[in-house]
Amino acid sequence: MQLVTIGQALQRSCREIDHTDMRILLQHVLNVDHAFLLTHPDQVLTSKQEEIFDQLVARRVNGEPVAYLTGERDFYDLTFKVTPAVLIPRPETELLVEFTLERIPANHACRVLDLGTGSGAIAITIARHRPQVSVVAVDLSADAVSIARMNARNLEVNNISIVTSDWFGELLGEKFDLIVSNPPYVADGDSHLKQGDLRFEPRMALAADADGMACIKKIISAATEYLVPDGWLLLEHGYDQAAACRQLLEEAGYRNTFSRPDLAGIMRVSGGVI
Ligand code: GLN
Repeated sequence: MQLVTIGQALQRSCREIDHTDMRILLQHVLNVDHAFLLTHPDQVLTSKQEEIFDQLVARRVNGEPVAYLTGERDFYDLTFKVTPAVLIPRPETELLVEFTLERIPANHACRVLDLGTGSGAIAITIARHRPQVSVVAVDLSADAVSIARMNARNLEVNNISIVTSDWFGELLGEKFDLIVSNPPYVADGDSHLKQGDLRFEPRMALAADADGMACIKKIISAATEYLVPDGWLLLEHGYDQAAACRQLLEEAGYRNTFSRPDLAGIMRVSGGVI
């Protein structure tokens, strides 16, 4: 049987899929880092490793997201387990975490709510960086709640409570200093839903009625009941939804409304104080 080295495996699969994807898949199969691949091009794969790698490459060629194939994705400074039950954390969502952390002084005890937490990426990162804060994270999907709880356990984050809830449904009477959310905001008929990674992600985490604004609208109006005076609401939204978000915020009585761009220059997060 023909023996395959790391160098050959990389070259071979490189013809079929993106170089970075292929590298991440091989690292996953061999359980090594990038530096190891670079410094061991002549190491021979076992036949089992080769078989698993070939299967993963075939699935990637078929369109499955790399994060679902490896079962994890880096976000901010942590690594989160992901399955097709949750959205894959995006780099632009790190911005929402940054803006939230900016509003919570390092030793200020307060309550933060994350709506539609999915893998828990936003809520757990905030909880890790602000150990004195008490974080509540909710999701309608029980599968998402299980994954978020697993991530909190793996990352040793204890100042968080993760609950199955339809938005504020299970939070009656509770008050928060800050509410954050990366809700579904892609318009239902948007052609992007039929392209790339989005085809494999949960539709309920991506798409919303009313040109993608239905959940944002609901959150902006309901959050007023759950924020303390001077509490902040911060939302991620689509590339063309910033003005509509600010208008909804102002109509609902929020002050100091703002929108800020992501690294690509796209208005990505809006918010206000009540
Ligand atoms: N930013 C994601 C995308 O367009 C959508 C995430 C979301 O709907 N919250 O791929």
